[in-house]
Amino acid sequence: FAPWENPDAKPFIEFRNVTKRFGDFTAVDNLSLKIYEREFFALLGGSGCGKTTMMRMLAGFEEPNEGEIFLDGQNLRGVPPYRRPANMMFQSYALFPHMTVEGNVAFGLKQDRLPKGEIEARVQEMLKLVKLEAFAKRKPHQLSGGQRQRVALARSLAKKPKVLLLDEPLGALDRKLREETQFELTDLQAELGMTFLIVTHDQEEAMTVADRIAVMDKGRIIQVATPAEIYEVPNSRFVADFIGSINMIEAKVATRNGEATHLRASGFDREIVVDQQTEASVGDTVWFAIRPEKVRLSFDAPADGCNAVQGEIWDIGYLGDVSIFHAKATEDVVLKSTVANVTRTVERPISWDDRVWLSWDRDAGVILTR
Ligand code: ATP
Repeated sequence: FAPWENPDAKPFIEFRNVTKRFGDFTAVDNLSLKIYEREFFALLGGSGCGKTTMMRMLAGFEEPNEGEIFLDGQNLRGVPPYRRPANMMFQSYALFPHMTVEGNVAFGLKQDRLPKGEIEARVQEMLKLVKLEAFAKRKPHQLSGGQRQRVALARSLAKKPKVLLLDEPLGALDRKLREETQFELTDLQAELGMTFLIVTHDQEEAMTVADRIAVMDKGRIIQVATPAEIYEVPNSRFVADFIGSINMIEAKVATRNGEATHLRASGFDREIVVDQQTEASVGDTVWFAIRPEKVRLSFDAPADGCNAVQGEIWDIGYLGDVSIFHAKATEDVVLKSTVANVTRTVERPISWDDRVWLSWDRDAGVILTR
């Protein structure tokens, strides 16, 4: 089973109560985190949340004010960047424009004064890895954005670091190329059996590449979990809202019996029943969060046993693969429902102003208390 589920597993990278301040601004706030060997780990958060600072501290470009960082059992305090077994690939790629692809990839190896034959062999190996053998003699300006990105990747991997740090590595690529490259990155990581740490503000990217994600806000980690857990069982409104699209209904706990919790939401005729226990007490205000694809739409009343509310179609968005329906359920609540377009229909069967039922299963959403 996964190393993070094993309490005895030794972390490969560990941040222990790390704080980083710039003047009187706290960029990273008493943060602890364990990352395991061969993990593809993502730091995800909005601009300014401290994710790049985390990575720069690991690489040695910043020192923490408080706390310790360990890599493969070594305390990194005072270890200069070039002595750390971590290599960082920058967003700008920082390729040398006057050097060929080969020259760029060989640069770090030459600095380390490796024997010539070994450098040549390593460069060939790296170019093969990123499928750029045919471009060895070109200069960066003769390459596409995606190819430049792969040169930067080859250069970062050439010294065979124990950890590769990727700072928004795909930010400069267009959407299609970015999606392809995401899968190439995960293949590459699996092939090399290395630990990858990526910093991104793009939740889809984090979900696609990472084994686990840390969602950050204001210098703190809000949740660390697998992509599926982050999406299905967010631990807070912040995470629920940051990842994907979600419906959020404010409600009060009405009853709690064994496995299920009953919620009462203003304007709803029926209680919302959720197959989930909560630490909240009867009468407490909580939020019921449910993904739009888990909300069904129908003209007929749904079967007993599931949650349901009536609503009026307010807005429809056609996105090709799915359509998004917005339905006004109460004075304050507009629920989103996404419906997969599995057959070829130009006309939506449900249209503006239709009165519909919105329904969902008892195990389809989560109760959030913060
Ligand atoms: P982005 O995605 O925009 O790069 P980020 O989450 O990576 O955001 P960081 O670069 O880690 O954010 O920065 C966190 C905060 O610390 C920001 O508010 C930033 O302005 C501040 N900061 C970072 N480096 C410095 C510095 N050298 N001096 C002063 N403030 C800094």
